[in-house]
Amino acid sequence: MNKPLLFSTTLLAWFTENQRPLPWRKDYQPYQIWISEIMGQQTQMDRVVVYFQHWLAQFPDIHTLAAASEQAVFKAWEGLGYYSRARNIRKTAELLIQEHGSELPNNEAALLALPGIGPYTAAAILSIAFQQAMPLVDANVERVLCRLEDIAEPAKQAATKKQLLQLCAELLPADDPRNFNQALMELGALLCTPKQPACRICPVQAYCQAFRQGTVQERPVSGPKPKKIDISMACGIIEDQGRLYIQQRLPDDVWGGLWEFPGGRLEAGESPEQAVRREILEETEFSIVDLRYVATVVHHYSKYRVTLHAFQGRLQDTQQATTPVLHAASQFFWVHPDELTRFAFPAGHRQLVQRILHRETSTALP
Ligand code: SF4
Repeated sequence: MNKPLLFSTTLLAWFTENQRPLPWRKDYQPYQIWISEIMGQQTQMDRVVVYFQHWLAQFPDIHTLAAASEQAVFKAWEGLGYYSRARNIRKTAELLIQEHGSELPNNEAALLALPGIGPYTAAAILSIAFQQAMPLVDANVERVLCRLEDIAEPAKQAATKKQLLQLCAELLPADDPRNFNQALMELGALLCTPKQPACRICPVQAYCQAFRQGTVQERPVSGPKPKKIDISMACGIIEDQGRLYIQQRLPDDVWGGLWEFPGGRLEAGESPEQAVRREILEETEFSIVDLRYVATVVHHYSKYRVTLHAFQGRLQDTQQATTPVLHAASQFFWVHPDELTRFAFPAGHRQLVQRILHRETSTALP
């Protein structure tokens, strides 16, 4: 790019006219920028907006967030996945009150010291909330820059990432990094889209080397895609007198602090039914009878594809104590199905909760 000033002026003019009215763009409060950035990781913008609005209604500022229970924060986050992000947000809110006068700090070192804030998020907060000249390269910007410069190397390669950051820094106007960074992202989201970029109406077409070379569809170059790892799991929905058993995962576990129906991974050579009996016995010391298949749900994570086989059963002896011996959970409840919505579940279990609430499981469930 040999005319950064003209380029940024053109792009900023387009952004002024065409930006989406996202809720955190009203007054760019640091708290709101921080939350929107964390929510935006791996999540579509329309979903982020819905979650963000609910979040602000529940936790309008750092104080209400820090005072909230972890369960309330998890519940507000439910469906966004990667729950460690929600836990880190809450921890960070506490630290902001204790160490930063209840404000987000406006320097990189202090931001990086906070849980869940890495270099990208720190740069986003600094440039968008505090107008500091920090380059930002997310997936949209990566695509736009690879096309503008017609970069033929894989975009995810370390050297290319460095090159893109450098290029973004060179283009960044010192007097308006907030709008410039957002304008590049917005161009990627609205016009320079992955499949059918709207080059015909693109404001920076004159600067685009891929457009000139006819290589737009080949940019950015993607490297080899890592294959997803398949994980098979089984869980049991245990019913006793109209109530269902749920337990809370241990804090340092995967999905720590979330609720679940007891279960776990299938071991080698084990059927889902065998696995669910073994897991329930190991985790609770309950013996289950009348075990029946309910459903299989599949959920995709960035690196994994989890297949969860769900069964339903009841305690072996109706006189048997309904208090489990907990070996893999911090607490438990027997709840009426309508109460399940009060608890935050990981994705696969949440699909089961929806089926229970819509009576899509066996009629034996209340
Ligand atoms: Fe993207 Fe096309 Fe604009 Fe180039 S001309 S930046 S490929 S939309």
